[in-house]
Amino acid sequence: MMRVVQVSQPGGPFEIVERPIPEPGEGSVRIRVEACGICHSDALTKDGHYPGIQYPRVPGHEVAGVIDAVDPGTAEWQPGQRVGVGWNGGYCGHCDPCRRGEFFACVTHQVTGITYDGGYAEYMIAPVSAVALMPAELPAVDAAPLMCAGLTTFNALRNAGARPGDTVAVLGLGGLGHLGVQYAAKMGFHTVAIARGQDKGPLARRLGALAYIDSQAQDPASELLKLGGAKVILATATSGEAMSAVQGGLAVNGTLLIVGAASSMQVSPLLLLAGCRSVKGWYSGTSIDAQDTLAFSARTGVRPMNETFQLERASEAYDRMMSGKARFRVVLTVAP
Ligand SMILES: [Zn+2]
Ligand SMILES: [Zn+2]
Repeated sequence: MMRVVQVSQPGGPFEIVERPIPEPGEGSVRIRVEACGICHSDALTKDGHYPGIQYPRVPGHEVAGVIDAVDPGTAEWQPGQRVGVGWNGGYCGHCDPCRRGEFFACVTHQVTGITYDGGYAEYMIAPVSAVALMPAELPAVDAAPLMCAGLTTFNALRNAGARPGDTVAVLGLGGLGHLGVQYAAKMGFHTVAIARGQDKGPLARRLGALAYIDSQAQDPASELLKLGGAKVILATATSGEAMSAVQGGLAVNGTLLIVGAASSMQVSPLLLLAGCRSVKGWYSGTSIDAQDTLAFSARTGVRPMNETFQLERASEAYDRMMSGKARFRVVLTVAP
């Protein structure tokens, strides 16, 4: 038997229950979970705001653990391999988007912890297309948040069109932003952090930012222009107002790249057309992107700042994450 933390109905409480340890079906592996990050998107499972979700459901899409059983027909993964599973719950490989290489847009829309049970558990089953290799030197508790928050910022930054030496700003210094600043610095960008309040400046510099803009005391757009304008602004904040306020700091051909889920924002068409600027969103990534994220982080020393809780304290840990007070990611650990 194994313990899982499940939600039985939309808005229902987290319940710790015992279930038989599942066997991996065709094209799947079983993972003994060591750590699972708690992401704000887990609220979709908790509150039932994702279409078609079936209950009971075990949330969790920031999973780190060890493969302990594989479907016999699966040649590429073996028991004992350290792996992670993120938001992308795998893809079919033969629908039209997959045939175009856009695996993230697969019509099967498999999402870990939503379409099937996720990582708030001692064991979980994942299709092989969702599995990323985790480097030996990266502890599971560090790898877990990198499977969503890390992957999202790393993959957005490396696809944003900036080159080493370009000015790249990261808006927001929370769960996503504190990783985004580290990645931008390690990628060789002239990294600028933008957040609210003077007190975050020292942290931003410790994470690798060469400049810090306090958006409460300064106009972030004009401060960015003093630095020559930003080739990329990675918007991790969830405030549309904060996003609108930075767009004027984009350099010619600059991109405001959005990963924070704000509900709406103001964009100036004149600003876009006069400088060939763009506003673009970015999806986190698939399992190979996650694998690249983990490998890059292991090599360069990028690490999340975490608060950890034992699996049994999932409810308390979730509330801590939802409070917005966690510094900066909340991670569940599973005793072996
Ligand atoms: Zn997430
Ligand atoms: Zn597909």
